[in-house]
Amino acid sequence: MRKKILAANWKMNMTVGESEAFLETFLQEVGEEKRVEIVIAPPFTALSKVSDLLRDVQYVWLAAQNMHWEKPGAFTGEINAFMLRELFVRYVILGHSERRTLFGESDEIVNKKVIAAHESGLKPIVCIGETLAERDGNMVNEVLERQIRGSLAKISVKQMDETVIAYEPVWAIGTGRTATPSQAQEAHAFIRKTVAEVWNKETAENIRIQYGGSVKGNNTAELMAQPDIDGALVGGASLDPRAFAEIVANTCGLLA
Ligand code: PEP
Repeated sequence: MRKKILAANWKMNMTVGESEAFLETFLQEVGEEKRVEIVIAPPFTALSKVSDLLRDVQYVWLAAQNMHWEKPGAFTGEINAFMLRELFVRYVILGHSERRTLFGESDEIVNKKVIAAHESGLKPIVCIGETLAERDGNMVNEVLERQIRGSLAKISVKQMDETVIAYEPVWAIGTGRTATPSQAQEAHAFIRKTVAEVWNKETAENIRIQYGGSVKGNNTAELMAQPDIDGALVGGASLDPRAFAEIVANTCGLLA
């Protein structure tokens, strides 16, 4: 049984003070919820504060939104895995479509980061997904397979057990347009089948595949009820503590 994982991707939002206020309300709203895994990815500037605030909270985990693959050195403006580990960061989001399109991250670059994350004990959340043009051109499976094989090249079976994949159709991110539950399920089933082909069946059965793209309280239940959807990566709705808590509650409602 795969434990669902709900991750808040705050992107370039939230000051330290706003992060503190968010957590106060969110932790109150959500209660000590351990049936799902809750993850929060603040911007780098708020990681230290959020890490302190979550120190005694055993049911919300910390993630970073990106990292560099190199060891400490002359890489102005970058942050590496060792720095994140020092702050008790558990997950790192890699290959988000905004990183791929706005900052030119290729599958090869994402792969270097995934390898470095595993080497230092961070669990990567690896984002993949097609653009609207690719969907319209019937290229969804081709794009997903290329991203899986490229971004996760040389990742061992053992490392795959510590990896999360996030299926995020680019056309659904921040647009208010959600993939229908059956569109999302179809893509997730294809991702799982590809993982079985590249690694093995057991790895495919164990790996958690999140859906991301305009997830909100009112569409959570039908998406999370799909057999191959194991959680959500949430952007916009995760900035409001009550809205994110509602996503958690509506996911847990399915488990009751
Ligand atoms: C995201 O950025 O990962 C995301 C899914 O954003 P939104 O929920 O705003 O579509």
